[in-house]
Amino acid sequence: MPGKLRRILLSAFFLGCGQIWANPVWISLFNNSQVQNVALTAYAGPVTAFGDGKLFTIAKGQAVNVVLNGEKLVAANTDSLIGVFEQLTIIADTGSIIRIRPVLPLTASRNYEATVSLSADIGRIRMINQLEERSYLAGVIEAETGTGRSEEFYKAVAVICRTYLYGHANRHESEGFHLCDETHCQSYRGKSRNDARIPAAVEATGDTVIVDNDSLPILAAYHANCGGETESAKNAWQIDMPYLVPVSDPYCSAFSNARWKKTISIDEWIQYLIKNGFKINPAVVTDFSFRPDRRTPNYKVNTFVLPFKQIRNDWNLRSAFFDVSLEDGKIQLDGHGYGHGVGLCQEGAMEMGKRGYKYEEIIRFYYRNVKLVPASKIQAQIPNL
Ligand SMILES: [Zn+2]
Ligand SMILES: [Zn+2]
Repeated sequence: MPGKLRRILLSAFFLGCGQIWANPVWISLFNNSQVQNVALTAYAGPVTAFGDGKLFTIAKGQAVNVVLNGEKLVAANTDSLIGVFEQLTIIADTGSIIRIRPVLPLTASRNYEATVSLSADIGRIRMINQLEERSYLAGVIEAETGTGRSEEFYKAVAVICRTYLYGHANRHESEGFHLCDETHCQSYRGKSRNDARIPAAVEATGDTVIVDNDSLPILAAYHANCGGETESAKNAWQIDMPYLVPVSDPYCSAFSNARWKKTISIDEWIQYLIKNGFKINPAVVTDFSFRPDRRTPNYKVNTFVLPFKQIRNDWNLRSAFFDVSLEDGKIQLDGHGYGHGVGLCQEGAMEMGKRGYKYEEIIRFYYRNVKLVPASKIQAQIPNL
């Protein structure tokens, strides 16, 4: 069936279901996985399936198995074959949930609302969840930050995730969806269901997004813990952004992620430095210690410099913000924070929320010179697919 006709038919069907389709977003599920075989269960209520013009119902608690066979999908229940389809669309009425469990490769199940369309991609089953923007954002917030946080923290994250959506909604347009469900875009693990404050935060922030001086959605970077000072985009990624600049953060120091340690033998450390171009001068006593009072791009020994970012990658360290000292004949790295350090510090933002700061204040503390505006007033919009 031509794509346009299929869309018209599906739209008519959705209207018939009484669903509200404001700002639907299309998210590719299990995007990094080559799913060959998947079980779909009607969880919490019956769901309707629509395959190449054939309609059928999956009763509450029943499952359908879908297996990739060349360019087709073979759908079957426990007793019999249902059909062979090019595309299969599963529609959950309000209150129903589509539980998806990839069987090959075996993956833990996830719950989705609204609509999931399955089709044969090259060597995999492509699954796209079409759902309302607000439901998607609630799912992202839960996947990215977990449950049990303060309301104002969730509101700040809602605005950040919405800003990402509007700033990147054309990222996968050529592949036929807006965003993937992996960290490449934003983690999305299905319906948010474990903390009512999450959907409430999405509602409470309306359609607010963060823009820069040119009224473009900002790159709203965030990380777990900055260790006391955030990193500039310039140092981390060699991109100068006026809103991603160092901020001294007094709020995140009590969290366990604020500090880390690693001990390395002197021999290993010297070998590592030599491998990166350091030359030992026997006439000079080398002092390997280096204690910057704030974030600085490079570790320095005599005239030798090595980017902290590179050391972080090479040794798989939690951050690129650490002191180097010599203790008991060993090299001791005393680290600060967890993550790249750019933009909003999640644990600092959680603490600000607990202390009564409003989400606008949290956002403006970590992103400088930005404006909070309604998404409807900006140029970047979610393209129709
Ligand atoms: Zn992506
Ligand atoms: Zn911090």
